Amino acid sequence: MTKIGKAIGWVVFGFGILLGLWGWFGTLNPPANGGYEVTRAIAGGGAVIALIGLGIIVMVRQMSFAWRRIESRIAEQTFAECTLCARALNVENDPMSRDCGGDCWGCIGKIEADEAWQPSVDYVQLEIGEGWRFPDGTAKPTPTN
Ligand SMILES: [Zn+2]
Repeated sequence: MTKIGKAIGWVVFGFGILLGLWGWFGTLNPPANGGYEVTRAIAGGGAVIALIGLGIIVMVRQMSFAWRRIESRIAEQTFAECTLCARALNVENDPMSRDCGGDCWGCIGKIEADEAWQPSVDYVQLEIGEGWRFPDGTAKPTPTN
């Protein structure tokens, strides 16, 4: 989409430059019978079209920046927080924040342990021992150091 928009912008810009040059050369060697006015008008029109082309290029650039910002904001909302407890995901010093498909390991580990899924029961026990979870298996908040 951005590429097409930019290509259109450049084509319009190039067309305007060519038209402008053609008109400008025309004014240097004007044909008889008031041809000067016509070629000057063509040169002016070419310049305007070239400016419009530049305008399109700049507009497409701005739009693509804005779109990228929107996209990254959507990505943040989708992936940056646990959908169950809103803990920030994939925080470096927070083992409970590991991303388990949009939920944090803190929540998922406890759910799985509560369902007696043995590997998670073992992990959660270990993590209670490490001080990352409360004795009931609930994840402690993200460390704030
Ligand atoms: Zn969570």
